[in-house]
Amino acid sequence: MKEKVTGPVSIPPQIVVKDLAELLHTTPNEIIRGLIKHSIFANINQIVEYEKAALVAEELGFEPSLSTITTAPAVQSDRGLSANEAMMATRNDDDMVVIPPVVTIMGHVDHGKTSLLDMIRKTKVAAGEAGGITQYIGAYQVEVNGKKITFLDTPGHEAFTAMRARGAQVTHIAVIVVAADDGVMPQTREAIDHARAAKVPIIIALNKIDKANANPDLVKQQLAEIGVVIEEYGGDVVCVPVSARRGTGIDDLLEMILLVAEVQDIKANPNRPATGVIIEAKLEKNTGPTATVLIQQGTLKMGDNIVVGPMSAKVRAMFNDRGKRIQKAAPSTPVSILGLPEVPNAGDRLEVVASERAAKIQATKVAEQRRSDSMPLGQVSLDTLYMQMQEGKVKELAVVLKCDVQGTAEAIKNALTKVGEENIKVRLIHEGIGNINETDVHLASASGAIIIGFNVKADGAALRLAQKEGVDIRYYDVIYKLIDDIQAALTGMLEPTYREVIEGHAEVMQIFKAGKNTVIAGCRITDGKITRSSQARILRRNATGIVYDGKIASLRRGKDDVREVATGYECGIVLDDFTDFEIGDIIEAYAKERVKTGA
Ligand code: GDP
Repeated sequence: MKEKVTGPVSIPPQIVVKDLAELLHTTPNEIIRGLIKHSIFANINQIVEYEKAALVAEELGFEPSLSTITTAPAVQSDRGLSANEAMMATRNDDDMVVIPPVVTIMGHVDHGKTSLLDMIRKTKVAAGEAGGITQYIGAYQVEVNGKKITFLDTPGHEAFTAMRARGAQVTHIAVIVVAADDGVMPQTREAIDHARAAKVPIIIALNKIDKANANPDLVKQQLAEIGVVIEEYGGDVVCVPVSARRGTGIDDLLEMILLVAEVQDIKANPNRPATGVIIEAKLEKNTGPTATVLIQQGTLKMGDNIVVGPMSAKVRAMFNDRGKRIQKAAPSTPVSILGLPEVPNAGDRLEVVASERAAKIQATKVAEQRRSDSMPLGQVSLDTLYMQMQEGKVKELAVVLKCDVQGTAEAIKNALTKVGEENIKVRLIHEGIGNINETDVHLASASGAIIIGFNVKADGAALRLAQKEGVDIRYYDVIYKLIDDIQAALTGMLEPTYREVIEGHAEVMQIFKAGKNTVIAGCRITDGKITRSSQARILRRNATGIVYDGKIASLRRGKDDVREVATGYECGIVLDDFTDFEIGDIIEAYAKERVKTGA
């Protein structure tokens, strides 16, 4: 790591590795090595997200900031940006101003997240103000002492992490609501883990202090036990007692949010084409697709040409959180926009580009990228961990652990701290009780972690998502086996386990000699299919032991080599190093599939 500070650099939300290298005046190899340190395995032509590019930039001594435009020529030409925009980009750093913090409220169910959001809205949106009542658009802004704060209106860490897994981090500060009469609960811990994994600072809102059985001290102690040490106890986490029902402490909470924001120095450049993230979208009966975008950089204006995910459009109308028509929106402002041809996804990026044509070109690129992106970047798997470590000094194995009971979780947690070598350790980013769900997968995906399930299953949605995101899920029911596997993976000793999948059977109908050492079996596929890459064995009536177990050497239909033959069809099969077919033999085709369980 270089100590030298090489100055500020603005990096777009997504950048190709080779362009990042150019931007940071270094070689693509150095960037690739830098990424590998963070368990991201990208090649020179792959796109990396800002969050990850920024890590590498920092380690090379730069001070990265988010931009959609870069001075790297390759990216400009790629995206068809205008000279005007390029000029804007060079002005970025001078134009940075402090922007309102974006806050997400998280915490255990029934601890008062919704009540808190409602109370803040009610007390801070002045009744006399034009269009004083807020409209539900997915986020709202309040003003405190002349400063604004943006609240995301969908509380909970599920939405927070789902967005993050899609590469969109919009939250600057997380407020964790803990009910003073109930204390730290499983979802409190989850929310804290999710905020930590995202490196978002947290503020504790100690809610329901109006209740007779509220026990703030106990809660503070419980928080300390899970490593959240509040200021009063000598730590650095701000804790504000509130009552979302009565409105007590709301002002204090808002002031503390502003204070934490000030320390964070949250800035953006309003004088450039806007970028943002879709936080909510729906199809409205009268107006068609309507999306709420949270502006992150620049100022969005009426009539701007925009790219939203794989769509291009023009901003036809904009409304703020009071339902008022507006002409422009600065960073951290949530606006509901009209003009999109379809309903986008939450987490999709919005970007303003110079012309309608540029918008179309870029939208097409995003669409293509999405189609080719079958395997997302940066996922870690236990089977390949050692190789990944060798290639680039991965320093830790991030783990999400789900167990059936707390006792086991404790035991596993303890054991995991002891595995690994000096230079590679296990980092438990989240531990919880219950089945593996979508939120766990999102967390693992966003953090480059694997998931370990102990005596629990993954639900269907989680499995589908894990497959899509390339997240490695391992199931165990014996602790020592789990620990052995992790240790083995960390030291490069893990043997991948395989499962056999029978693909189909063929019956040998005729036998042809086609050369000195080649015999073709004329077969009919009786069930399933046989593929060129299948493993094959021969099942023979009355034979003891295995007659043959090997690979298919050739598969033909008529004179043509084919890749696959399905049930009911006839074909010619040659097996590797085998000539002793008999009429009536059954050729069983199978494949070996890597098993994702350690159990
Ligand atoms: P969420 O699930 O975290 O969004 O929790 P809600 O906001 O829906 O609140 C759950 C319950 O706790 C509701 O019945 C609220 O009225 C109640 N509640 C929320 N905040 C307070 C509070 O400060 N004091 C009291 N006494 N009750 C509260």
